[in-house]
Amino acid sequence: MSKRILITSLFITLFILLIFAFTSNEVYYSQSEGDMHTRLREQLNTVESVAAQNGALPSVEQIALSLDGAEVTIFTVDGDMEDTTLSVGAETFSSEETATALASENEHFYVCPSVREGHTFVNLYKRIDDKLVMLTGEIISRSRMLATVLPSLGIFILVDVIVCLLFTWLSTTFILRPVKELAMEAIGNNKKIETRHAELKPVVDVINWKNEYVRAAQRSKDEFISNVTHEMNTPLTSIRGFAELIASGSMPKDKMIAAGKTIEAQSERLSAMIKRILNYSAIDDDTVKSYDVDASALTERVLDSYVPMLKDKDLTLLRRIEPGMIVSSTQERLTEILDNLISNAIKYNKQNGKIMVTLAGGVLTVEDTGIGISNEELPHIFSRFYTVDKSHGENVGFGLGLPIVRKLCDRSGWKLSVDSVFGEGTVFKVDFGGAHGKKHHPQPVDKG
Ligand code: ADP
Repeated sequence: MSKRILITSLFITLFILLIFAFTSNEVYYSQSEGDMHTRLREQLNTVESVAAQNGALPSVEQIALSLDGAEVTIFTVDGDMEDTTLSVGAETFSSEETATALASENEHFYVCPSVREGHTFVNLYKRIDDKLVMLTGEIISRSRMLATVLPSLGIFILVDVIVCLLFTWLSTTFILRPVKELAMEAIGNNKKIETRHAELKPVVDVINWKNEYVRAAQRSKDEFISNVTHEMNTPLTSIRGFAELIASGSMPKDKMIAAGKTIEAQSERLSAMIKRILNYSAIDDDTVKSYDVDASALTERVLDSYVPMLKDKDLTLLRRIEPGMIVSSTQERLTEILDNLISNAIKYNKQNGKIMVTLAGGVLTVEDTGIGISNEELPHIFSRFYTVDKSHGENVGFGLGLPIVRKLCDRSGWKLSVDSVFGEGTVFKVDFGGAHGKKHHPQPVDKG
């Protein structure tokens, strides 16, 4: 950062310095040229009045003497040089210049820039009587003026570098100090941090927000681990209890089969729970790429697979599936949602109950005439490991199905809602056309 400040400040100040040097050089040059012009004009007026008094133009030496050393040249009306006090002679003017001056009735002003190294000649012409008079003044040239200034410019540049280094050191020290202090405070600090510098407020807000986010994630992780271990403990205790009894040899043989079956059932429950937990965590896998899934065909297939399970309670399954609804997701994720909602509609249904599954207008609706959910329980059903029946019985779920559905919907930007009347039934809805505008455009489907 200090390197950047140094380079930027050096670049800016050097640029300003050079601009200033060249501009002031130009201003000074124009001014000296203007001054010379005025001086020559005044001198020319003097020559003119002397010529009028005498009735004839004096010689170049006389004019030069009366004009305090100014160089004088006199031309004939044909443009030929008659006489001059100029030591460099014809080098200070050209024949075109004199011709133009002769053609002009008034004064003719000319600046001759490169006659002698580092000098500029200013010529002023005027026709007096039947002659052309040229007065020549010498001013310092632009390049020479600049060459004079350059050594002092070098000193200025040196001073500038020193000032810039000092400025960089001061700015990084004073500006960065509060930032460093803030960083030290933010590291390993669980409390909300504050600053008295208004400029750092946005940074502090971001740090606080990020810290809170990390704390919430940590809390959620701790809670998750505590829930998982708690849920696993019940089947594990049962397995260990029966295994110890069998191993001790104290269990009568006729009870061993039942104990074995319990161990088997509890082991299956454990592995089913682990599978669910893995499914839940897998939703966070960002490497999974979405693709177009025919949600209509998939829903039909999932519903078909559940038909054998309707028999136990003599349930009726009604379906209205709009064909060709395409959703951007994966087969597995969409199947997970359908599985959880449909299996719950079967599990929490009553004898001879109904299940209505609709997929239309980009919305999936799973409705049942089951036991329903009370208003007190309803806000909690999407929380991890939340089950209405707390008995941990074999047929009671793990409370991970709906959290999985919610997480999948949230990550896909789909809107999940539930409506339930205790004792009468429940309706779950997934709106695929949710906040992030996922695709659900109906298409003609080839059912072949
Ligand atoms: P579980 O594995 O226990 O079914 P879920 O997360 O799927 O876990 O559901 C959480 C709780 O929500 C369940 O324990 C159940 O009481 C209630 N629930 C879910 N779906 C329904 C439904 N269709 N009808 C009545 N209650 C339901």
